[in-house]
Amino acid sequence: MVIETTEKDLYEELRDMGPEDMFRWALAHHGPRAGIVTSFQDTGCVMIDMMSKVAPGLRVMTVDTLRLHEETYALMREVEQRYGLTVERFTPDPARLKRMVAQHGEYLFFDDKAKQEYCCKIRKVEPNDAALETLDVWFTGLRRDHSEFRQETPKAQLINRNGRKLLKLAPLADWDKERIDAYSEEHGVPKNALYEKGYTSIGCVICTTPTLPHEHARAGRWRWFNYLDEDNKECGIHIGGSGI
Ligand code: SF4
Repeated sequence: MVIETTEKDLYEELRDMGPEDMFRWALAHHGPRAGIVTSFQDTGCVMIDMMSKVAPGLRVMTVDTLRLHEETYALMREVEQRYGLTVERFTPDPARLKRMVAQHGEYLFFDDKAKQEYCCKIRKVEPNDAALETLDVWFTGLRRDHSEFRQETPKAQLINRNGRKLLKLAPLADWDKERIDAYSEEHGVPKNALYEKGYTSIGCVICTTPTLPHEHARAGRWRWFNYLDEDNKECGIHIGGSGI
């Protein structure tokens, strides 16, 4: 099903919906063209738990850069067993990955910002694009308290992609860490073991590191670029825009 309603009507319909209503609405109206795309951080796991109760069958997808932490792969297996679902994995194109590594080496992201972005493009952005091609409704675990760059994250945003409309929903955008933790504890939501090791944002091995208490949640990403501003701690998957 393709999104045909006007932006205004769609936002009106979604404006007062809580997260559970959004999951129900997406499954009812968009079925297999709706899905959660998660990197198995805390918000994504809470979304999966909520979805499993009110809209079981909604797709769960991930971008597997092939450089994730073993703890993240273990969590994926745990989530599959706990909720009886199959996580759809979108991986880098093998030929493009092979060429990148042959030209620049496995650790090109240390060289400069452009090469880090190139690595993210091959390993993250392109597989994410492939995942989004299969969706009309994209659930994401973005939260406004993640970073300054994300403070304006809308809960619903109609974006244009390759000449078509894609509805991006961040149902927990206004939840803070305390609320996420309280939900996780109350419902026994599986959690990435990396949080116990001091990580506050989780991505690839080496590129994500633990943070100190006074640091921002995404400060552990690409630490060797810490002289750059917050916007440079994004990998290109999430771009700005308006919404509600
Ligand atoms: S986070 Fe690092 S290893 Fe992962 S895709 Fe980006 S640059 Fe490559």
